[in-house]
Amino acid sequence: MPVEQARQFIRHFLFPLSGQETVGLHEAFLRTLAYDVLSPMNVPPQDNSAMDGYAVRHADLVNDATKLRMIGSSFAGHPFSGQVSPGECVRIMTGALIPDGCDTVVMQEHVKHDGAVAVVGSGHSPGQNIRRAGEDIRQGATALSCGQVIRPAEMGLLASLGLGEVAVFSKLRVAIFSTGDELRQPGASLEPGQIYDSNRYSLYGMLGELGGVEILDMGNIRDSRDSLKAALLDAAAKADVIITSGGVSVGEADYIKQLLSEIGEVVFWKIAMKPGRPLAYGKIGSSHFFGLPGNPVAVMVTFQQFVRDALRLLMGQQPKAVFTLKALCASNIKKALGRTEFQRGILTQDENGALIVHTTGDQGSDILSSMSKANCFIVLPVSQGNVEAGNSVDIQLF
Ligand code: AMP
Ligand code: MG
Repeated sequence: MPVEQARQFIRHFLFPLSGQETVGLHEAFLRTLAYDVLSPMNVPPQDNSAMDGYAVRHADLVNDATKLRMIGSSFAGHPFSGQVSPGECVRIMTGALIPDGCDTVVMQEHVKHDGAVAVVGSGHSPGQNIRRAGEDIRQGATALSCGQVIRPAEMGLLASLGLGEVAVFSKLRVAIFSTGDELRQPGASLEPGQIYDSNRYSLYGMLGELGGVEILDMGNIRDSRDSLKAALLDAAAKADVIITSGGVSVGEADYIKQLLSEIGEVVFWKIAMKPGRPLAYGKIGSSHFFGLPGNPVAVMVTFQQFVRDALRLLMGQQPKAVFTLKALCASNIKKALGRTEFQRGILTQDENGALIVHTTGDQGSDILSSMSKANCFIVLPVSQGNVEAGNSVDIQLF
């Protein structure tokens, strides 16, 4: 299946899970809003000063050196309570309420101050340097929409509305396990033929970065049909989504695809991409199953190209637009026709601002250091052949 078709498939096959809960604002970080937030108030709540200076009545400013009597001060959190009459002004600080009777703030640099008298020049516009009530968000307006991820700006925005808690979609329960008799845990020692299980850790990181996920780490499962079947059934009973790595290819110890068709349904299992051709997607009961390849780079690429969007959809988010940029390729790249390739690239900008990309070097799907060095994918479409240095290529920033 071509890459774009698999993406479309995921968009049409997956629906948001419906559960939701109300959480405090700290807990809401990186979660997904489950409702449209209508602003309960104006932000800012009242007119206030954008400057340190003097609150005046604009009609008073009749010549180059109007003398005004200073009758008090308005600080942020300590408003001036009196009424300002013609010929009077109030010292004011940024964020302080505009006193009754005043309609303009003159910044302090434009005022000479002599005891209780402020001397104000001309050329000031009525209403200047005042932040109006509701100029950020009007009471009753839709401040944030259902499906919005709560990032740092949304954290602050919700707080500015005075909301101490919000309704978000439930955490997605994602079970992960690795497969392979050769795998050992970091910290243990290796026998000949063994390697450390890295996939579960890169997966853990990518899931964590997504937020809103409760990770059920089921460890490493041996290459035995029975153990794998038991693990899949166990995971399906506990989790909304199951993500495994390895054993999904056509080797003699690769049972995942067979098992998926036996205990669930296979929707697709091969994508015309490199790295990551074997990628199984299907359902086991009501759980969504992603069988990622074993090779460490393939795990990260397939997760980032497919699984992440699928999880976002299940969490009630809109799929993110995938932007591609054009960059000048500084490396020669060997590329066969027939598959979309996601080469790992390092993007830089030359002194004229042009985008230049070169590969991270060896592009084997076991070269995990390529993912660490890269800051983008160089995306080479199905019909693309070799790339010569100096050609333009598409890149996707990480
Ligand atoms: P498989 O698809 O199971 O045949 O695995 C393909 C390659 O990826 C083999 O070289 C495996 O040893 C390697 N591999 C599989 N799982 C992991 C893992 N969790 N961590 C690191 N390498 C792995
Ligand atoms: Mg294996």
